[in-house]
Amino acid sequence: MAVVEVRDLVKRFDGGRVPAIDRVSLAAAAGEYLVLLGPSGCGKTTLLRTIAGLEQPTSGDVLIGGHVVTGLPPRARQIAMVFQSYALYPHKTVLANIVFPLRAVGMAREERERKARWAAELLGLELLLDRKPRQLSGGERQRVALARALVRDPQVFLLDEPLSNLDAKLRASARDELKRFQQEVGTTTIYVTHDQAEAMGLGDRIAVLNAGQVHQAGPPVEVYDDPADTFVATFLGSPPMNLIPHDGKLVGFRPEHLLPVENVPAGEGVTMPLAVERLEYLSGDRHVYGTVSRIGERTRVVARLPATVDTAIATGETHEFAVPGARLRFFDTQSGQRSEPVRLDGG
Ligand code: ATP
Repeated sequence: MAVVEVRDLVKRFDGGRVPAIDRVSLAAAAGEYLVLLGPSGCGKTTLLRTIAGLEQPTSGDVLIGGHVVTGLPPRARQIAMVFQSYALYPHKTVLANIVFPLRAVGMAREERERKARWAAELLGLELLLDRKPRQLSGGERQRVALARALVRDPQVFLLDEPLSNLDAKLRASARDELKRFQQEVGTTTIYVTHDQAEAMGLGDRIAVLNAGQVHQAGPPVEVYDDPADTFVATFLGSPPMNLIPHDGKLVGFRPEHLLPVENVPAGEGVTMPLAVERLEYLSGDRHVYGTVSRIGERTRVVARLPATVDTAIATGETHEFAVPGARLRFFDTQSGQRSEPVRLDGG
């Protein structure tokens, strides 16, 4: 059963020419980690705030636990939220901040402290329990806000970029902890981010949003391997999917699937001569930038070669590359939507 569901949700702000949320229907199943991913301004936060009850939709409904909660205040929704701008009580210690929501529901002191210490340990806050928020770094404050949400055993967590103030290393470990925590307690979570690595790492499913609409919702491997349209194809991936116009279609392939022809089994690939313009080394991979003119017109593409591919490639040379046929994706040039495969010469 869907624990959280939005039906045909529209949110228009005064003066906004386009709706911030434009007819979104989406559901998170029990225990699911659903990530809302999209560029700045696409409506992620508005969607989360509408689920939380902090915004009222222009039309459409929000359901939690199968009940329509549209119009109910946030406190009636059995949700816990951590937002980018989290508010801690400045005069209370870290421990007191974490236990505060438990006091409010009348939990016994011992039980409160036990839960708070468990959450603090999970988030690496054990040594900071006696400090006040002003004695903490931005990242530490964020972890306190997270701990405070975790202790409440809510039906749903709504997290809006909760790791955005953490440095890269802490962010990676906090991400692992969040995932582990979620797997342990199994609370349905909706998590907003514009960071695709975070989305791929955390999400059971990713909903990719743009301009207030969900372009695709599916498991990470699906949105990455089988993007529904060219927006998803190029928003995900680093570097993004290559797109080459061909005969009224766009032929797409990921940089890691474009390899020197020697590295693709004979007869299995579509070949193209790549005029190499630039080489970059990133995390052990070679990124080869250049142009191809084999299919359709001249187009810039990028290949991403793992360290295991040691073929010599030099700037200024033209080298024959190939993409295995099974790795090609096809899109309609006009709509950008995924379309049926077409036959390519030599493919
Ligand atoms: P970011 O990643 O930058 O936080 P987002 O995807 O969360 O962006 P939203 O904050 O949901 O995007 O904003 C969606 C759209 O709605 C934007 O065009 C934004 O300017 C607009 N918007 C958001 N809140 C308001 C408001 N209170 N009044 C008017 N317009 C708003």
